[in-house]
Amino acid sequence: MKKKVIVVTGAAGFIGSHLCESLYNDGFEIVGIDNLITGRLENLASLLGSPGFKFIQIDVSEPVRSVERGAWSVEREAEVVAVVHLASPASPKDYLAHPIETLRTGSFGTYYALELARSSSARFLLASTSEVYGDPLKHPQDESYWGNVNPIGPRSVYDESKRFAEALTMAYHRKYRVDTKIARIFNTYGPRMRLEDGRALPNFFSQSLKNEPISIYGDGKQTRSFCYIDDMVQGLLKLLWSGENEPINLGNPEEVSILQLASEIKELSLSSSEFKFLPPAEDDPSKRRPDISRAEKVLGWKPTVTRTVGLARTMEYFKSIIR
Ligand code: NAD
Ligand code: UDP
Repeated sequence: MKKKVIVVTGAAGFIGSHLCESLYNDGFEIVGIDNLITGRLENLASLLGSPGFKFIQIDVSEPVRSVERGAWSVEREAEVVAVVHLASPASPKDYLAHPIETLRTGSFGTYYALELARSSSARFLLASTSEVYGDPLKHPQDESYWGNVNPIGPRSVYDESKRFAEALTMAYHRKYRVDTKIARIFNTYGPRMRLEDGRALPNFFSQSLKNEPISIYGDGKQTRSFCYIDDMVQGLLKLLWSGENEPINLGNPEEVSILQLASEIKELSLSSSEFKFLPPAEDDPSKRRPDISRAEKVLGWKPTVTRTVGLARTMEYFKSIIR
């Protein structure tokens, strides 16, 4: 019998490493691909060296090595059942530091990942993002909203690369009938976020635990809705194995202002930090909250981990890595 293999790009990242662990525990063989631009091998510590888990360090946007199946080291006797395409710098600090790489990964990388799925007759899942809605004029955001994106602003390298990736994914579905899925992932948090990735949560924990000033960009009234990693992994798995081909929002609809989030983290950390108000980030979305009705209806999924529980678990992780 052929081995059932799942190829995961971005495997050494925050979401990728958690997803690889879940898929591996479900009995699949995994080929994890990553160029480590923002990921870390230590995220895969529980899997590296395990039978049926293979890690390949390559850039998915590189043509020759990526498009050719052999180069991705998928053995001939293996049956690739799914390609999960998570590779992409994801935090604003990362994609602003790597603008061209981000665009290349969303375009060329998505193309090569889709080609692998097509040539293997495998299903395909794209990790898209709530950023496709830009600074939304509709609130909360449902999947029918086309978004409000500045196509030439600094964030466009990420937003437009994901919008292109969605368009390419739908084209492969329509033209080649590839069984594609698009997850529009909203802000996700938990253990293995990089302390220095510049996002609100790692910054607030790092600053609070060190009793340093907590950086608030703008007035802190902008909102986000934070989903704990375990819930996100469950949502991604349900979507992957579903019959759905249209984009689906995955996120926790509990909305919070950034100032409120910072206060909660400060309190949880028993910190004496003060808030330091800094200029707002350019094109920063003023509000964001997923409408997850479709995920609830189509996938039977909704988040179960409250922010209180999720933040406490995440704090334990950050405490363990702050020396
Ligand atoms: P991450 O930076 O931790 O993981 C991304 C991984 O992709 C990293 O390991 C990185 O090294 C790898 N990578 C990037 N470009 C690559 C390339 N060209 N070739 C090979 N590997 C490459 O980020 P994350 O938070 O785990 O995000 C994973 C995916 O989910 C991304 O596609 C991101 O856009 C999407 N997403 C994440 C969030 C979130 O809140 N974390 C929200 C929306 C969407
Ligand atoms: N933010 C902040 N201080 C920080 C980091 C982020 O006030 O140290 C704000 C940021 O401007 C944004 C929100 O927190 O309004 C969420 O930012 P993050 O980078 O976590 O995610 P994204 O902007 O991608 O949703």
